[in-house]
Amino acid sequence: MCIFCDIIDKKIPSSCVYENDYVYCFNDINPVAPVHVLVVPKKHFEDIMDIATNEECAFYMGEVAKAVNEVAKIKGLEEGFRVINNCREMGGQTVKHIHFHVIGGLKLTEKMI
Ligand code: 5GP
Ligand code: ZN
Repeated sequence: MCIFCDIIDKKIPSSCVYENDYVYCFNDINPVAPVHVLVVPKKHFEDIMDIATNEECAFYMGEVAKAVNEVAKIKGLEEGFRVINNCREMGGQTVKHIHFHVIGGLKLTEKMI
């Protein structure tokens, strides 16, 4: 269905950080920080706007939030980190399968907000 579905299905290799029945978390191929993990629901939803019309998507987003917590602990980010979701074209989303970037391992100062 998409490149992240292929990664979840292990058709494309990736470096797994954490997974359970609902989410797959793996190192970004092009990291922007010492820690850059993608947290992805194992079911294909296109973007975060799906949550409004899709109950199952809403459920998966709860699991994604829990997985962010797990990734932060695994990567030793208890002092802080940033979570980014790029949504649709104007948001810079390049892979059309909902995903959250967990960025950390350095002091994050540059901010849009
Ligand atoms: P977006 O720009 O859609 O928010 O983020 C897509 C992210 O997926 C980018 O940071 C990009 O580096 C990452 N990415 C794209 N293809 C692959 C891949 O095949 N493997 C991994 N590990 N990351 C990928
Ligand atoms: Zn997909």
